[in-house]
Amino acid sequence: MSIAENISKLKNELEPGVCLVAVSKTKSNEAILAAYQVGQRVFGENKVQELSRKYDELPKDIEWHFIGHLQTNKVKYIAPFVGLLHGIDSLKLLKTVDKEAQKNNRTIRVLLQFHIAEEETKFGLDLEEARELLSSAEYAEMDAVEICGVMGMATYTDDETQVRREFHQLKNIFDQLKAEFFGDKDSFSEISMGMSGDYQLAVAEGSTMVRVGSFIFGERNYH
Ligand SMILES: *Cc1c(COP(=O)(O)O)cnc(C)c1O
Repeated sequence: MSIAENISKLKNELEPGVCLVAVSKTKSNEAILAAYQVGQRVFGENKVQELSRKYDELPKDIEWHFIGHLQTNKVKYIAPFVGLLHGIDSLKLLKTVDKEAQKNNRTIRVLLQFHIAEEETKFGLDLEEARELLSSAEYAEMDAVEICGVMGMATYTDDETQVRREFHQLKNIFDQLKAEFFGDKDSFSEISMGMSGDYQLAVAEGSTMVRVGSFIFGERNYH
């Protein structure tokens, strides 16, 4: 199957309310343009340098999402153009994003990343930490970031029950935060969950945004 065919298969399968983020990390400009030519405009990357290079080289109406772990000292490189930051996992990082957004005279949209998987290595907040962040005086003073929802990654396992349970947990976190902190904010609306191996389960559990890479572009080669 070609990149174009994979995109249209996904588009047909996903409900109109679910945003498809085409995860193009490690992939060539040609591969990205093949998706662009069939109408795909939202792409996800997880390395600052690679994202900056692709932003320079590719059409300017692409909406670039940063989906990886972001170091505070690198925020400045993508702050001028990034469309959505999926991986906010600390107050310190959010403060840096706010500062860089101000410098660039724009508002940067972000998602809070939650740790829902069993694996120790995955980054993310828990509900209590998020409550602390959202109740802090520092957060109250920020005016150049917009928190648009939550993001999480399920455990890498064949156990569908477990994956579903983890996605369900993220949906619950979203509902709680919505009720406690964002009741009057329509912009708090996104639940970013689901990848190539589990996006169907994620959508069934309420995902509004899936991040799909290898299903579209084929396996990645790291060297
Ligand atoms: C790489 C990556 C994806 C896409 O993974 P696939 O299994 O190739 O679809 C999604 N989300 C994050 C955070 C990633 O790093």
